[in-house]
Amino acid sequence: MGRVLACYLLRAGHRVTLFDRDPVDSGAAAAYTAAGMLAPWAELEQSEMSVFRLGLRSLQLWPELLRELGRDVDFHQRGSLVVAHAADAGELVHFRRRLAAKLTAADQLRDLDAAALEQLEPALTDVFDRALWLPGEAWLDGRRTMAALAGHLQAAGVAWQPDTAVLGLEPGALTTERGRQRFDSVIDCRGLGARDDIPGLRGVRGELLWLHAPRLRLQRPVRLLHPRYRLYLVPRQDNILVLGATQLESDDTGPVTVRSALELLSAAYSMHSELGEARLVHSEANCRPALADNQPAIVATPGLIRVNGLFRHGFLLAPALAQDVIEHLHRDAAGNRPAGTDNEVMQA
Ligand SMILES: Cc1cc2nc3c(=O)[nH]c(=O)nc-3n(C[C@H](O)[C@H](O)[C@H](O)COP(=O)(O)OP(=O)(O)OC[C@H]3O[C@@H](n4cnc5c(N)ncnc54)[C@H](O)[C@@H]3O)c2cc1C
Repeated sequence: MGRVLACYLLRAGHRVTLFDRDPVDSGAAAAYTAAGMLAPWAELEQSEMSVFRLGLRSLQLWPELLRELGRDVDFHQRGSLVVAHAADAGELVHFRRRLAAKLTAADQLRDLDAAALEQLEPALTDVFDRALWLPGEAWLDGRRTMAALAGHLQAAGVAWQPDTAVLGLEPGALTTERGRQRFDSVIDCRGLGARDDIPGLRGVRGELLWLHAPRLRLQRPVRLLHPRYRLYLVPRQDNILVLGATQLESDDTGPVTVRSALELLSAAYSMHSELGEARLVHSEANCRPALADNQPAIVATPGLIRVNGLFRHGFLLAPALAQDVIEHLHRDAAGNRPAGTDNEVMQA
């Protein structure tokens, strides 16, 4: 959120100082773990309409932002597929019904029969004879995107303060080990790092695995509906499929458990026998920052704006939320400017 917002702030003509407790190119941010799906339709099954609408706006904003970054982040917009095993066929029916009840335009959901699935994603027809296609969905590689954002921000002259934990925030000022610094506005995008300041902010653990599967070609993300969990495979460069993800009410960021790995891997193997030969090359767990209603929130007071609670949707929502934060900021600047500050915007 912080990096995307910094791009929008620069574009709006602000000077930005960015504080991150981690190094520029790595760290514990949930963004490094994310599968990178930009999937407002599939997520709508369990998310609110507000998330859907923000997601649609972001989907339109991402291509423009990526053009500005000028680097390949493995972004594609070829839709995603939702499948269920024959024994769980009712899951697909219910999933479709829940989405259709929330949507106005019917063409956003396409039912594929075996022939249509063969055309779109032939690898799936070994096991599945129907699917739901969500043609508007996109995805990107979160790590590449983080690197592209950093490269762009540094080239554009953001004053980046890596390895610098923010110890305290207040309107128009923040404190680090080097002391207190003043700014026109402080924007808090610390994800779970803001937990002490945001009542009810919690971590929701997600685990995922990277599979090297050169013999299984998927052209787009595929979700498997299962009575107990939702599982997805997201294709990345170099024949990697990202297999995820668990969703556990826990703020434990420790390594993937045996139970989760077994569940994820056996469900994935049930989608295509080729996955039996795939290599498990990486596993990772992190926590999504979530508020009680699992919706994002922007809390704006003069000189201090907090944006948090991006939950499962950080990449999906960041550009639209950045636009909204800037609107708050400009409203704030027009009315209430803390006295005696540098003419600068800071984000933590
Ligand atoms: C398994 C998994 C899969 C996911 N898949 C997707 C997906 O497919 N699509 C999607 O849109 N989203 C996905 N997400 C969600 C996404 O990762 C989060 O919503 C997003 O990363 C939240 O962004 P954020 O900037 O608020 O927090 P973070 O990404 O956690 O970033 C917080 C930043 O604040 C910094 N920070 C924290 N405390 C301090 C401090 N005191 N001082 C200075 N800096 C500090 C951190 O170093 C970090 O850089 C997934 C998450 C997980 C765990």
